[in-house]
Amino acid sequence: MGKYGVDILNIDVKKLIQMLNEALSEEWLAYYQYWIGARLMEGPMRSEIEPELLIHADQELNHAVLVVNRIIQLGGTPVLNPSDWPKLSRCDYDPPEDPYVEVILNQNLKGERCAIQRYKEIADFTSGKDHTTHQMATTILNEELEHEQDIEDWLTDIDRMKEDLKKIRV
Ligand code: FE
Ligand code: FE
Ligand code: MG
Repeated sequence: MGKYGVDILNIDVKKLIQMLNEALSEEWLAYYQYWIGARLMEGPMRSEIEPELLIHADQELNHAVLVVNRIIQLGGTPVLNPSDWPKLSRCDYDPPEDPYVEVILNQNLKGERCAIQRYKEIADFTSGKDHTTHQMATTILNEELEHEQDIEDWLTDIDRMKEDLKKIRV
């Protein structure tokens, strides 16, 4: 963004760039969490869940594109070294050591809730001040809410299936 575009923001731009770099690191970790988890997962509804997890991975990568473009517009330097991702990220990366679908989904669910908190904070911080970042944050937030809902729905269905199986055995 031009200098004037930054000057008119009634906001602590340095702090905003820091928040955006943390969000950028979280998006890359979320991307890999989905991308590797989808490939390893085993268990019920695999053929439905795996492709959707890969779509979520693509969407996280697209969030990273939106965030990095805004950092550059604001005159900031995006995080340059992947080794800084876990340091900047507030969301944990959980290695998917157990490939069972529920474990994978719970790891992704934790990440989504962390992302929801992140974009709520960025939206709050920029509200009424930096309309461009605010709009970006709410756009991403809406998609994170959809991701959370998708995962909760699968977990509900898996629980229900388990309950039904119990009834059959009796
Ligand atoms: Fe995301
Ligand atoms: Fe997400
Ligand atoms: Mg989805």
